[in-house]
Formats: sequence, C-alpha cells, structure tokens
Amino acid sequence: MSAVADIGLIGLAVMGQNLILNMADKGFTVAAYNRTTSKVDHFLENEAKGKSIVGAHSIEELCSQLKTPRKIILLVKAGDAVDSFIDQLEPFLEKGDIIIDGGNSHFPDSVRRTAALEKKGLLFVGSGVSGGEEGARHGPSIMPGGAPDAWPHIKEIFQKTAAQVDGQPCCDWVGESGSGHYVKMVHNGIEYGDMQLITEAYDILKRGFGMSEGEIAAVFETWNKGVLDSYLIEITTEILKYNDDDGVPLVTKILDSASQKGTGKWTAVNALDLGMPVTLIGEAVFSRCLSSIKEERVRASKVLGGPQIEAFTGDKKQFIDDLEQALYASKIVSYAQGFMLMREAAKEYKWNLNYSGIALMWRGGCIIRSVFLGDITSAYTKNPNLENLLFDDFFNKAIHKAQPGWRRIIAQTALWGIPTPAFSTALSFFDGYRTERLPASLLQAQRDYFGAHTFRILPQFYSDKYAEG
Ligand code: NAP
Repeated sequence: MSAVADIGLIGLAVMGQNLILNMADKGFTVAAYNRTTSKVDHFLENEAKGKSIVGAHSIEELCSQLKTPRKIILLVKAGDAVDSFIDQLEPFLEKGDIIIDGGNSHFPDSVRRTAALEKKGLLFVGSGVSGGEEGARHGPSIMPGGAPDAWPHIKEIFQKTAAQVDGQPCCDWVGESGSGHYVKMVHNGIEYGDMQLITEAYDILKRGFGMSEGEIAAVFETWNKGVLDSYLIEITTEILKYNDDDGVPLVTKILDSASQKGTGKWTAVNALDLGMPVTLIGEAVFSRCLSSIKEERVRASKVLGGPQIEAFTGDKKQFIDDLEQALYASKIVSYAQGFMLMREAAKEYKWNLNYSGIALMWRGGCIIRSVFLGDITSAYTKNPNLENLLFDDFFNKAIHKAQPGWRRIIAQTALWGIPTPAFSTALSFFDGYRTERLPASLLQAQRDYFGAHTFRILPQFYSDKYAEG
C-alpha cells in the first residue's frame, strides 16, 4: 500500500480506538495497528467502517502506510510495552520521523526515551492525554512535550483533535524532554486533590448535617453554577442522584476503600524530591491509603471514641455557604501548590514551561476542567512570571473573602470529629505561607544541639561572636 496516512496509532484498546475515530472525524487519515492483530480486523469491520482509517497487520506495513516524516502514536500500557514498540519501530523509520507516547508514562521514562531517540535522529514526544474514553472520542486535553522539532509536524493534528474552549484548543507545546508527561502527572495529582476535597464536603454535609444524598446533590448542583463550576462537581451531582433498583443511593452501597493507579503518588514523591510543599495532593494520596485499610478501621471504630455529633443549631444556609468557600479556597491552594511544583521542576530539569498555556490545556477536555482554570490562565497571561498564584489580585481577593468561612468549617468539623485532611492542610499551608517568622528557628537550634548542624543568625542580630558558628 502507498503512504496514505497522516498519522499511525498503535494500541486498539479503549483510548486508541476512540482517538483514531476522533482524528478521522477531524479529516485525517489514520493507520491503525495492535499487537493482537485480530483487533485490527474487528475495528476495521465495525467502528472504523466507512471512515478514513486503514489497518496494518505488522509494524513494517504500518510504517509503509505513513506519509513522511512518519508520525506514530503509541497508546498502549505504560512501561515495557512502550519500549518494546519503540524497538520494533526503529528499523522501519528514517531520520526525522516522530514517535509519540500518548499513554500514562512516568516522566523519567520520557526523559530517557527523548534522549535515546535523539541520538538516533528520531524525534520523541511524550504526550499526556486526559479525558478518558469520552475525551479521546470527542476532544481530550493533550499535553505534548519532548523533541521541539516534532511540534510543527504534529501541531495541526493535535490541536484539531483536542477539546476546544472559546475557540482555543486544549493542546499546546508544553516543553522539552519529559515535560509533557510531567505536566500530565501534576494534572492527575491535582485531580486526586479535587476529588478528595469534594468527598470531604460530602462527608461534612452527610454526617455533620445529616443530609440525604438527594439533598447533597441539590447543594452541589447550586455550587456548579458558581465559582466551583467544574466537571467533577457536575459528575458528583449525577452520582449522588443515582439510586439503585431498590431506591437506595448507589454511593451508600459502595465499599469505602479507594484504589489508585499511582500518578498521584508520583506527584507527591516528586514534590518531596524537589522539596516543594505540595501538601494537599500528599494528603489526598494518604487519604486513599487510610481508606484502604478498611478492616483495621472497622476494628479501630470499636475502641477509639470521639465526640458525638450534636444537631447543628446555627445558621444552616451560612454553613453551606462557608463550605462552598472552604472548598474554593482549598482548591486555590491546591492549584497554587501544583504550579509551585511545576515552577520548581522547570528550574530543576531546565524546561521552559508556559503556565498560562498549561492552564488553558486543562480548561477543557480533561477531568479537572473547570471555569476556575480560565481564571488561572488569565493570571499567568497577565504575568507569565507570577511567583505564586496567591500573589495574583483575583486569587488574593478570592482567598481573603473565603477565609472566615473556611476557618469556621475547619473549627466545626474538628469539634464534630469529621476528618478534613485536604481542607485542613490547605488552611495550614496558607497560614504557614503567609507567616513571616516560623518556629523553624527553634528547629534549627534543636538540630544544632544534637547534631552540631549549625544555624544562621538573622542579619540584624549578627556580630563577630557568631563568626565561628
Ligand atoms: P490499556 O488497557 O492500558 O492497554 C491495552 C493496550 O496495550 C492494548 O492495545 C494491548 O495490546 C497493549 N499492550 C499491553 N501490554 C502490551 C505488551 N506487553 N506489548 C504490546 N502491547 C501491549 O489501554 P487503554 O486503557 O486504552 O490506555 C492506553 C494508555 O492510555 C495507557 O497508558 C493508559 O494509562 C493511558 N490512559 C488511559 C485512560 C483511560 O481512561 N483508559 C485515560 C488516560 C490515559 P493487546 O490488545 O495485544 O493486548
């Protein structure tokens, strides 16, 4: 067959199939291949029928179908499968051809692959793709990074395939080397944080206020029309409204033990490696860990007492408004921490990251999409060198407005004995971040006392007697 296809895609599982159909709808001819080749035939005879999609039964055939420079997206299980396909592709590629890994690879793997392929004259792109099956089919958020020379060749396909918000694609060049997968990793970490915050709000309304799932859904529905307007609040409303056949809300029947695939943990571990206080994502990961020791928690619940939750006698409407503000303020802190981490990563790994572009990529198509990300885009467009989101006028005002309600919520839930790890760590971070003098002076003195680690004296107290210290 002659070279007819604009792009090739390997991996016909749920993400790959949907992304191919999406690219075909946007006017591109796509060549499809899968390790188990019977899936190629099945795809061609069914979903792909009548569309600008061709199939290949070997890597060699796939490469022969592609216009040059060849562009091949891998959407396979992250890890060895990606390296294996890179090895299989190499003999059939020429200098300047492009391999794109669209799976959930860990960014150090993309750093390694970009460098290794560069030596061979091939261009590697590690691209985060978010939005799940629906996003892949109708417009995901796409975060490509790697060899910059690849971008002009894939830009049109990627930007037309991505979600569009206000006429702008949720896809732009992220930066060098593994930065695309890095930004996708932080996106997933932020997703963990957003989900944790929502579950804490649910718990407070349910156990603190004794509200039913239906009543809580109504609260979320209202919130989705305000500053919290987002995909995750929207789907939470739908979930809470969903009753099983017997009329009981399904969510009340689901085992309260959360799983994780590891991208939140990667973010938290990287934050520790870089020394960045990304506390909310860390708490979100630990909260899943705590939830997963269900049997131990059941035993603990029998022997560890706490306060009885008294019926709330205050102003209920005010409390719900406070909770909305607490969720909003905590979310601002979480994103501020996420962008702090990316700033530090850019310094550490020598990447040029475009922060307003990143916020724009997350504005649509992906799981954390929200109106709020439009405000972050504006903040970084106004000032690309913004030191911290909390220094931006809009967010500064928002967090100051939210502060009283946020504190009332943390105080009340502590009295009730309802855990709020994400709300609380956000407030502690905020209070630490805005404190000129922290008790780390005592900590330094302790370190010096037992370990002779020395300390530095504040400039106004400095004199020669400290010169040896
Ligand atoms: P998946 O279940 O992660 O992977 C299945 C695909 O990988 C199949 O094409 C399979 O081929 C191939 N594969 C698995 N092991 C292989 C090996 N050792 N050698 C060669 N091929 C191998 O598929 P997915 O859910 O569509 O996800 C694809 C990628 O996108 C993953 O990296 C995933 O983490 C990422 N992602 C997924 C989602 C989502 O919502 N599912 C969202 C964002 C990103 P066979 O058919 O031959 O087994």
